[in-house]
Amino acid sequence: MRHINLKIKMYKQALFFCAFFLMTLPLCAQTTVIKAGHMFDARSGKMLDNQIIIIQEGKIREVGTNLKFSNADKLIDLSNSWVLPGLMDCHVHITTNLSYRSRNWNETYVTESNSLRAIRGTLIAQQFLDNGFTTIKEIGNDANYVSAEIIKAINKGWIQGPTIIYAGKIIAPYGGQSSNINPEHEHFWDWEFIDADTPEEIIKAIRKNIYYGATVIKMVTGDNGIYDVEDIKVAVAEARKYDLKVTVHVKMGGEEATNVILGGAAAIEHGFGLDNTQLQLMKDKGIYLVGTDFSFDNWYAYGMDSTRAKTWENIDIDRLKRAYAIGTKMAFGTDIVIDLPGLNRVQSNLKVLNNWKAAGIPPSYILQSMTMNASELLGLEKERGFLEKSYYADIIAIKNNPLENIDAIKEVTFVMKDGKIIKQ
Ligand SMILES: [Zn+2]
Repeated sequence: MRHINLKIKMYKQALFFCAFFLMTLPLCAQTTVIKAGHMFDARSGKMLDNQIIIIQEGKIREVGTNLKFSNADKLIDLSNSWVLPGLMDCHVHITTNLSYRSRNWNETYVTESNSLRAIRGTLIAQQFLDNGFTTIKEIGNDANYVSAEIIKAINKGWIQGPTIIYAGKIIAPYGGQSSNINPEHEHFWDWEFIDADTPEEIIKAIRKNIYYGATVIKMVTGDNGIYDVEDIKVAVAEARKYDLKVTVHVKMGGEEATNVILGGAAAIEHGFGLDNTQLQLMKDKGIYLVGTDFSFDNWYAYGMDSTRAKTWENIDIDRLKRAYAIGTKMAFGTDIVIDLPGLNRVQSNLKVLNNWKAAGIPPSYILQSMTMNASELLGLEKERGFLEKSYYADIIAIKNNPLENIDAIKEVTFVMKDGKIIKQ
């Protein structure tokens, strides 16, 4: 009997210790400490020296100078580096790639299966992360909701990738962004676009996208048909019910841009031909410009001759200059779907920095457009985009000072995503 009582006592003790251990587990979680020689403060646009970042359970617990930490903590010494919040690109198409100087969307749509595009998307998602982009806005042209599956695979931990804000299929007036498709193949574009020509169709398209995983609503106006102010307002109101934002592709400017601005969308994508009145109105209403500012090399990759590519580069630089001078809020977005020879997708994207530099935009603002501004546009301003207490530990490091030369961000030596080291 005494033997049985002893056994019960031992079991009770074991149970108590197990429970105690489980209760204290969060307190015992591995703490990571980063010593940052220089750290970018996205709010002020300035570098702060000799900062210590304490990370637990994927989030930043404390940031400051002279913080105490234990010898048992995992120490990452970046005292000779420039440490930045993970970068964000607000306009990408991870599943799409067109051939260099022979852009043919129709061929791509017909010859590439969902599976092939999913594999490409997986590869490019990893490229973004490895090159310091810890958040992207995947903005459609991903066949039959391919990126939704990539996001699921990232969330399951099967593959690595950035946080992805996702548009689903692009909502557009009849025909999407296609042209010259014969009537026998009119549904050809259904793989990439949803036709929506009335408020009811716009609402239905938004609900369909949300059903399949969209976390932002992307519309196109001006390519085939123009949305009026009421159409945009309907979309904005419907998206708001689900706490989502509406962003709209407007290639140039004109009436279609004014309708988007007055309709209250969150951002205009491209807007190469926006005039100063429109840029001012965007500033007044807090509407972002995601300028997708192709450099000469990017335009040339699309098959333009040198003269035309130069003309378009100058259009981009001029619009960037005007937007910055007026004070229109800008969030960094690239839109590159043609990789340049010898360069991966992110390296090809970063050619757009040539234009930001040529427009005289200070590196501090370029970095803010990739962090603070982008996080606000993406609705992540309380979670990501800053190296501050309670934010997710999306942290990168580079070897040179980006405030002296923004090209320093092209050589990322360290990447942490949600507190996990991806590259070191
Ligand atoms: Zn695009």
